[in-house]
Amino acid sequence: MHDHDSKDSIEYVRLVGGERRVGSTLESVSNHWRGGKECFMFISPHDDDVVLGGGLLMQLAQKENVSVYILIVTDGSMGYCNESQKDTISKVRMEETYKCYESLGIARENIIWLSFPDCRLSKYRGRDHSDKQDKISIGGYCGLQNSFTYWLRKIAPTQCFLPTSNDLHPDHKIVHEEFLISLFHAAGNIWPELGAKIERVPYVHEMGVYCDFPEPPQLRVTAPESIMAKKLEAILMFKSQEQIESLVDIVRKSGPCEYFRPLEFKFYHPATHYDAFEKKHHIPFIK
Ligand SMILES: [Zn+2]
Repeated sequence: MHDHDSKDSIEYVRLVGGERRVGSTLESVSNHWRGGKECFMFISPHDDDVVLGGGLLMQLAQKENVSVYILIVTDGSMGYCNESQKDTISKVRMEETYKCYESLGIARENIIWLSFPDCRLSKYRGRDHSDKQDKISIGGYCGLQNSFTYWLRKIAPTQCFLPTSNDLHPDHKIVHEEFLISLFHAAGNIWPELGAKIERVPYVHEMGVYCDFPEPPQLRVTAPESIMAKKLEAILMFKSQEQIESLVDIVRKSGPCEYFRPLEFKFYHPATHYDAFEKKHHIPFIK
């Protein structure tokens, strides 16, 4: 039995260096909280990914008056489990997706479809000219970096959450890579047809969905049973996904907790390497 089983309350634990911050709001364990400006964007390679990894956090964030957006990258067209669904699965999943996230309090207009073809994301890396009729075209261009940059500028989230780079599905790996570089495109002056640049690069956390984190997570979110029950019900909205019951089972057994790992970008500053080459750290070489 974990002690959270008896708590039935909201708890955030954030590990920072040797420090363990505990609080009942995310604000109370955050150093860079921006009050009414806080806005979260969950990036979901497939429609059901972020409810699995962040279905508690997205409910709790709204209790702290944070607006929550869901960006769904693919159209779900390869997610059929029987032949008769082949032509209708995208539409079915779209309806299931609205039901799922609306049941967690997210407004329909905050659920954004990028509509890239499921399982074919490798063809949509980067940015390219496009036919304006194409549904993934924005500003006369297509590609993942084009869409991500556009939506980052339009919504200007303060924090973003996406599945870890460790997930095996290539769609997850590609989204991870293309999204991270898009953060910097969005904060720069390039591609002005995609909107005004964002003031600052949002904080980014990875969430656990299928595979474990590449490095241990540093934020644990624990929710009351009622919030957990809503998450489980929301996952079950994806009725067309026949494997969903087994995923619900895993989520239920794991308890009402979610884990997140902050992504830190290490930029190159040559000066940081200077000292390591100084003679005080080494024994002399004698030839
Ligand atoms: Zn997925």
